Amino acid sequence: MNPLEPLCAAARPRHATRSVTVGGVRIGADAPIVVQSMTNTDTADVIRTAIQIAELARAGSELVRITVNNEDAARAVPEIREQLARMNVEVPIIGDFHYNGHRLLSEHPACAEALAKFRINPGNVGAGARRDTQFADIVEIACRYDKPVRIGVNWGSLDQSVLARIMDENAGRAEPYDAGTVMREALVTSALESARKAEEIGLPGDRIILSAKVSSVQDLIAVYRDLARRCDYPLHLGLTEAGMGSKGIVASTAALAVLLQEGIGDTIRVSLTPEPNGSRSQEVVVAQEILQTMGLRAFTPMVTACPGCGRTTSTFFQELAADVQGFVRTNMPRWRETYDGVENLTLAVMGCVVNGPGESKHANIGISLPGTGETPAAPVFEDGVKTVTLRGEGIATEFKSIIERYVARSYPEKGRAADAQEPAQAS
Ligand code: SF4
Repeated sequence: MNPLEPLCAAARPRHATRSVTVGGVRIGADAPIVVQSMTNTDTADVIRTAIQIAELARAGSELVRITVNNEDAARAVPEIREQLARMNVEVPIIGDFHYNGHRLLSEHPACAEALAKFRINPGNVGAGARRDTQFADIVEIACRYDKPVRIGVNWGSLDQSVLARIMDENAGRAEPYDAGTVMREALVTSALESARKAEEIGLPGDRIILSAKVSSVQDLIAVYRDLARRCDYPLHLGLTEAGMGSKGIVASTAALAVLLQEGIGDTIRVSLTPEPNGSRSQEVVVAQEILQTMGLRAFTPMVTACPGCGRTTSTFFQELAADVQGFVRTNMPRWRETYDGVENLTLAVMGCVVNGPGESKHANIGISLPGTGETPAAPVFEDGVKTVTLRGEGIATEFKSIIERYVARSYPEKGRAADAQEPAQAS
């Protein structure tokens, strides 16, 4: 292999050979990796929950999970679906069940009907002898309503009977595993045994998605590698309880990037704790950015900007980079509806002549601003060719007009794609 050949993650074979369709969204096999998220509203509050689902969907969440934790929440689910229909939001809703899912789903058939998928946690499905029957009840309801199921194991609620059994087996080994390995083995075993039980009850294999979430990056990588080696179900990937702000983003990205690069993971969620009054949809943006920066999917034009240094004494280029990013985000809903392939657009905003022209030539559109002591002129490059030099007060406005014109000129209008030229690629 050529050592300089980029490892194209998008072309990597994915571990899952099966695919599962959730409310019209295909997950697994060769389907695009799906972004999902979860609400944090009280599900019984129909309006607030529907508004947050709509916000997450509009941010790009292709599936949205809600907790269904009590009678009021179960009654609210069909009303939420109706409210979303009135808001023209069609995103599939997934019900998250713990402890009482068997009862809520059997007593509220309209809830079961309105959901696109059920999530069951084998560690929280019931204790003792009730565990198997309550698990079977949920799976039978899923079969009756033709709903897929995610068997979602979590190390914070690991099935204690599985853990105890694996510990006993480990104690009998000549060279016992350490406690961490035992825990990871219990997580994987719980997920696989639950999937096998679900199939024995009658749920087809192509209606099952697995997850086994932990909050440690290295444990998550080890667990999912093992899960991928031992099954071909689509995997829901995410670092549980990733945390807040940059810590949560970095930890999620570190874990997910390693696994996605290996073809492991078919749908992802970034479990960020929002800042007080912060937007829940940040986790959707981060998930999209992970996939897009890895070259796995394209969602929105990417802006490359240099970090700035002592060669730039003003903050103008930082402001321009933020202005351009905001301009793209604001216009993207309209562009996406109008122009085919516009999400592949690349932009560069650079601070001086050192890397400015070079980086700008690699983008579809780039601008190289003048650094300290340079001639006060900002060359603009389109598809690698310098097309204009901007000067003076109106640089930001003129640059945004150039972007708008480039988009209109370079991407075919939807519905007329067959007659139009190929969308431009970054040089
Ligand atoms: S492009 Fe220029 S301003 Fe930006 S980081 Fe590099 S040297 Fe500094």
